[in-house]
Amino acid sequence: MAEHDSFTGSNFIQNIIEEDARTGKHGGRVHTRFPPEPNGYLHIGHAKSICLNFGLAAKYGGKCNLRFDDTNPSKEEVEYVESIQEDVRWLGFDWEARLFYASDYFGELYAFAVQLIKSGKAYVDDLSAQEIKEYRGTLTEPGKESPYRNRTVAENLDLFERMKNGEFPDGSRVLRAKIDMASPNLNMRDPVLYRILRSTHHRTGDTWCIYPMYDYAHPLSDAAEGITHSICTLEFEAHRPLYDWCLEAVDHKNRPQQIEFARLGLTYTLMSKRKLRALVENGYVRGWDDPRMPTISGLRRRGYTPEAIRDFCDRIGVAKSNSVVDFSLLEHCIREDQNARAPRVMAVLRPLKVVIENYPEGQAEELEAENNPENPAMGSRKMRFAREVFIEQDDFMEDPPKKFFRLAPGQEVRLKNAYIIKCEQVVKDERTGEIVELRCTYDPDTRSGSGSSRKVKGTIHWVAAEYSAKAEVRLYDHLFTVEDPDTGEDYKTYLNPRSLEVLSGCRIELGLASAAIGERFQFLRNGYFYVDSDSAPGQLVFNRIVALRDSWAKAQKG
Ligand code: ATP
Ligand code: MG
Repeated sequence: MAEHDSFTGSNFIQNIIEEDARTGKHGGRVHTRFPPEPNGYLHIGHAKSICLNFGLAAKYGGKCNLRFDDTNPSKEEVEYVESIQEDVRWLGFDWEARLFYASDYFGELYAFAVQLIKSGKAYVDDLSAQEIKEYRGTLTEPGKESPYRNRTVAENLDLFERMKNGEFPDGSRVLRAKIDMASPNLNMRDPVLYRILRSTHHRTGDTWCIYPMYDYAHPLSDAAEGITHSICTLEFEAHRPLYDWCLEAVDHKNRPQQIEFARLGLTYTLMSKRKLRALVENGYVRGWDDPRMPTISGLRRRGYTPEAIRDFCDRIGVAKSNSVVDFSLLEHCIREDQNARAPRVMAVLRPLKVVIENYPEGQAEELEAENNPENPAMGSRKMRFAREVFIEQDDFMEDPPKKFFRLAPGQEVRLKNAYIIKCEQVVKDERTGEIVELRCTYDPDTRSGSGSSRKVKGTIHWVAAEYSAKAEVRLYDHLFTVEDPDTGEDYKTYLNPRSLEVLSGCRIELGLASAAIGERFQFLRNGYFYVDSDSAPGQLVFNRIVALRDSWAKAQKG
C-alpha cells in the first residue's frame, strides 16, 4: 500500500494527526477506516474518502480498515458489499485482514445499550415517529420531553429486552438517549438509538428485529476497532457532540476522534447513491457500471485508471468548506496518465472513402508509424497504405471556409505517415446528393520520412480500406445538461439526451483488430479509447474515455 503515498500535499487533517503524534494522543497511533453503507455502488466522491483514509494511514505508518456500515438491512445487499470491495481493491488499496461490519458489533452494541439504560442514560419511548418529530422542537424552539422519558430503569430494561425479543410491532417503540430536549443542537434532543424493524439482514439474518441507528453504531464501532481518527464528511459536524456523548456515556476505553472534511462535488454529476440507484432502476443508464456513471465501476468501464483517479483525489485536496470541482479536472488527470502510456493509433470514426487514382490497383506498401512521440521507447509499427483509404468525413469540406487546411476540392492534405494527396473529384449519390467517395491523386515524392521538402498545412489520419477492420465506437457526453443537476427540481429533466452516441461503422488500423478488452489507446486526433467488455472477436467496441482537447489545462493558462 505504501507504494502510492497519496495525499502527500499537506492538509488540515495531517496537521491534526501530526499534532496528535506530538502530544502522544492515541498513543501515537494512526488508525483510520473507510465506512461505506452497502446500499449502492461507490462513486468518485467515495474515492476521495478512500484515498484520504488509506492514504493517511500509509503516510503515517498506520492502518486503515474497511468497515461496512450495515445497520439498515432494508436497503442493503450482498451485491453492494462485493462491488465495494472490488472497487477499493481496484483503486489500489488493501485493508489486509481488517474487513469489518457494524453488524459484527450488534451483540456488543446491545450490551452497551443495556448499560446506558442501567445508568439512566437511555429510555424506551412509545411515541410514534411523527410524535417524536413534533416533540423535537425547532432551531428556535426547545423540544418537549416525552411522557415516557422518566420510566424506571427496571421498566426500561424489561421493555428493551422485549423489543429485542420481538414482542412489539415495527415502529411501535424506540430506545432513546436521555440527553437534553432543550439542547440548541437538535441531534442532542434525545436521539433515537434503536428501532424495531423486521427485515432480514444480509449477515445476521433474522437474529435481530431491533437495529441500532447510525449515530449510535458508528462511534462505538470505531471504538471497537481502535480507530484513532474517524474521518467523515461535513454534514456530520453537528453530530460530533453525539459521537462523543456515546463514547463518554458507555465510558469506552477507546476514544476515537471525529474529523469532518468537505465532500466532493463534481460539475454535471449527481453524487448520491440514492439518486444513482434511481437512474439505474429506472433504466436511464445501462447499469451501475454504465460508462456515463460517476461510480467507480462506471469510470473503470469507461476506461479511467486507478492512477488517474488517485491523482485527481490528490489534486483536489482536502478542505473544510464545500466546493464543486470541475469535471474537466478529472479528464485532465486521465489525459496526463495516458499521454506517455497509451499507444497512438489511427481509427476513422465516420469514414469517407478516398480512391487514389494514380496509385496502382492491387499494390500496397508498408509505412513506419511512431507508437508514441512522447515516449520513444514505445517504438514504431508498420501500417499499410493502398489505393483505397478512409478519412474522417469532417476532414473534407466541399465548400470550405478560408482557413480550412484539410481536404477540399483541388486542395491538398498530408495523410499522416504517408503521402500528400489532392482532391480531384467528389462523387455523390445521385438521388440523395450525399458525398460517397472522393477521387484523389497522391504525390509519390512526398512519402513521410523520405526527406521530401514539400509541405502542406494540414495532416489528417486515415486507414487503408483493405488493411483496416470494422469497430464500434461509443462516444460519451455528460449525463446531465447542467452543471448542477442536483438543484431542487427533478434532476431527470436535466438528463442529456445526447450523452451516448454509438458509431457502428468505424474503421481501425488492422494491427488494432487484435486488441484485448481493457486495453487503452489514443486514436490520433480523436481522443483516448478503451476496449469495452462488450467486444467480441472481430467486433471490437471502444469507449471514448475522453477527447483530446484539454479545457482544464486551457483554463489554467488563460
Ligand atoms: P451518498 O450520499 O452518496 O449515499 P453516503 O455518505 O451516504 O453517500 P456512505 O456509504 O455512508 O455514503 O459513505 C462512506 C464514506 O464515504 C463516508 O465516510 C462518507 O462521508 C464518504 N463520502 C460519501 N460521499 C462523499 C463525497 N461526495 N465526497 C467525499 N466523501 C464522501
Ligand atoms: Mg450514508
